[in-house]
Amino acid sequence: MTGCTHLDHVHITELPIEVDGCAACLASGSVWLHLRICLECGEVGCCDDSPGRHATAHAHATGHPIIRSLEPGETWSWCFPDELAMRIPDVSGETHIPPSPMLGGA
Ligand SMILES: [Zn+2]
Ligand SMILES: [Zn+2]
Ligand SMILES: [Zn+2]
Repeated sequence: MTGCTHLDHVHITELPIEVDGCAACLASGSVWLHLRICLECGEVGCCDDSPGRHATAHAHATGHPIIRSLEPGETWSWCFPDELAMRIPDVSGETHIPPSPMLGGA
Protein backbone atom coordinates (compact mmCIF):
# COMPACT_ATOMS: atom_id res chain seq x y z
CA MET A 1 0.00 0.00 0.00
CA THR A 2 2.90 2.34 0.57
CA GLY A 3 4.21 1.95 -2.94
CA CYS A 4 7.78 1.81 -1.63
CA THR A 5 9.84 -0.94 -3.20
CA HIS A 6 12.86 -0.51 -0.89
CA LEU A 7 11.63 -2.19 2.28
CA ASP A 8 14.18 -5.01 1.82
CA HIS A 9 16.81 -2.34 2.59
CA VAL A 10 15.45 -1.97 6.11
CA HIS A 11 17.97 -3.77 8.32
CA ILE A 12 17.43 -1.71 11.48
CA THR A 13 14.19 -2.99 12.96
CA GLU A 14 15.00 -2.18 16.57
CA LEU A 15 15.84 1.46 17.19
CA PRO A 16 18.81 2.20 19.48
CA ILE A 17 18.00 3.03 23.11
CA GLU A 18 20.05 6.18 22.98
CA VAL A 19 22.17 8.15 20.50
CA ASP A 20 24.65 10.99 21.01
CA GLY A 21 23.45 13.06 18.05
CA CYS A 22 24.22 13.41 14.35
CA ALA A 23 27.39 11.41 13.75
CA ALA A 24 28.77 13.77 11.10
CA CYS A 25 27.96 16.88 13.16
CA LEU A 26 29.64 15.43 16.24
CA ALA A 27 32.71 14.61 14.16
CA SER A 28 32.92 18.11 12.69
CA GLY A 29 31.76 20.16 15.66
CA SER A 30 28.61 21.27 13.85
CA VAL A 31 25.07 21.54 15.20
CA TRP A 32 21.77 19.94 14.23
CA LEU A 33 18.07 20.57 14.63
CA HIS A 34 16.30 17.22 14.24
CA LEU A 35 17.71 13.71 14.09
CA ARG A 36 17.04 10.91 11.59
CA ILE A 37 18.40 7.38 11.40
CA CYS A 38 19.29 5.39 8.30
CA LEU A 39 17.30 2.16 8.42
CA GLU A 40 19.84 0.34 6.29
CA CYS A 41 22.98 0.88 8.40
CA GLY A 42 21.88 2.80 11.51
CA GLU A 43 23.84 5.97 10.78
CA VAL A 44 22.35 8.92 12.65
CA GLY A 45 22.07 12.09 10.59
CA CYS A 46 20.46 15.49 10.83
CA CYS A 47 17.40 16.85 9.04
CA ASP A 48 17.18 19.21 6.08
CA ASP A 49 16.59 22.17 8.42
CA SER A 50 20.02 21.54 9.94
CA PRO A 51 23.07 23.21 8.35
CA GLY A 52 24.71 19.88 7.52
CA ARG A 53 21.66 18.02 6.16
CA HIS A 54 23.61 14.88 6.94
CA ALA A 55 20.71 12.41 6.70
CA THR A 56 20.09 13.42 3.10
CA ALA A 57 23.81 13.59 2.38
CA HIS A 58 24.24 10.06 3.76
CA ALA A 59 21.41 8.71 1.62
CA HIS A 60 22.86 10.28 -1.52
CA ALA A 61 26.41 9.21 -0.74
CA THR A 62 25.57 5.60 0.10
CA GLY A 63 22.38 4.89 -1.83
CA HIS A 64 20.68 3.88 1.41
CA PRO A 65 17.06 4.69 0.63
CA ILE A 66 15.08 5.01 3.87
CA ILE A 67 15.41 7.13 7.00
CA ARG A 68 13.22 7.31 10.08
CA SER A 69 12.70 10.23 12.40
CA LEU A 70 14.24 9.89 15.86
CA GLU A 71 12.27 12.82 17.28
CA PRO A 72 10.13 11.95 20.32
CA GLY A 73 6.65 10.91 19.27
CA GLU A 74 7.51 10.82 15.56
CA THR A 75 7.24 7.44 13.85
CA TRP A 76 7.41 8.36 10.17
CA SER A 77 9.94 7.15 7.68
CA TRP A 78 10.97 8.68 4.38
CA CYS A 79 12.07 6.94 1.20
CA PHE A 80 14.42 9.13 -0.83
CA PRO A 81 14.13 7.37 -4.21
CA ASP A 82 10.33 7.26 -3.99
CA GLU A 83 10.02 10.64 -2.20
CA LEU A 84 7.45 8.93 -0.05
CA ALA A 85 6.56 9.33 3.62
CA MET A 86 5.28 6.21 5.32
CA ARG A 87 5.16 4.23 8.54
CA ILE A 88 7.06 0.96 8.74
CA PRO A 89 5.40 -1.25 11.37
CA ASP A 90 8.40 -3.62 11.52
CA VAL A 91 10.55 -0.90 13.11
CA SER A 92 10.05 -0.71 16.84
CA GLY A 93 11.54 1.05 19.82
CA GLU A 94 12.00 4.66 20.81
CA THR A 95 15.36 6.41 20.97
CA HIS A 96 16.43 8.82 23.65
CA ILE A 97 18.08 11.77 21.93
CA PRO A 98 19.94 14.77 23.33
CA PRO A 99 18.39 18.26 22.98
CA SER A 100 19.19 20.05 19.73
CA PRO A 101 22.37 22.12 20.09
CA MET A 102 20.82 24.57 17.60
CA LEU A 103 18.07 25.39 20.07
CA GLY A 104 20.45 26.48 22.79
CA GLY A 105 20.25 23.25 24.75
CA ALA A 106 23.89 23.48 25.66
ZN1 LIG B 1 11.14 3.27 -1.59
ZN1 LIG C 1 24.53 16.60 10.96
ZN1 LIG D 1 22.95 4.14 5.84
